[in-house]
Amino acid sequence: MAFENLKTTLEKNGYTVSIFATGKEAANYLAGEVKGTTVGLGGSMTLKEMGVEELLKENNTVYWHWNTAADPKESLRQAMTTDVYLLSANAIAEDTGEILNIDGTGNRISSSLFGHRKVYIVAGKNKISPDYESALSRLRNVVSPKNAQRLGRKTPCAVNADKCYNCDSPERICRALVVFYKKIGSMDVEVVLIDEELGY
Ligand code: SF4
Repeated sequence: MAFENLKTTLEKNGYTVSIFATGKEAANYLAGEVKGTTVGLGGSMTLKEMGVEELLKENNTVYWHWNTAADPKESLRQAMTTDVYLLSANAIAEDTGEILNIDGTGNRISSSLFGHRKVYIVAGKNKISPDYESALSRLRNVVSPKNAQRLGRKTPCAVNADKCYNCDSPERICRALVVFYKKIGSMDVEVVLIDEELGY
């Protein structure tokens, strides 16, 4: 089965792990798991591509700053206090199960560290890197430049569309890195692995 070794590693690191063939199956699972709760969503192309917000809204109160009908600043604040928080991983090191996330605003990594009853970290197969070094390189040279481009930032990575320049730009989007060596101690955390390419 796909991800079987990684599942074992992540379970040793303290996580509950679930595996799905498609983003659609994973989204339906998550909708059933969190039904009736308040849910915050981190900015995530993976969750967007899975259609998670639309699905959860049927039976939950959902706060997401990417919801164009809501005030983004207020949504960010409200998402910090929900029962459940969903985010995606920027990369997972396959050999150690270390989970890496890089952030500019800080809402996503803050919520992955404290404050919710349960956190779900979602990752498509493209987020799995062989080890920590390749996972970190993925964050710096793939994830951040693509996000900088998506956000229209005037950073060298966005302008040149190739790699990280460790810039001093005021528009720099990578400002903090969180590495989970093990599951954080204060919260129930489940990793949802999906055998599809999702997000970037
Ligand atoms: S540090 Fe600057 S150049 Fe490097 S990925 Fe972040 S925004 Fe782009």
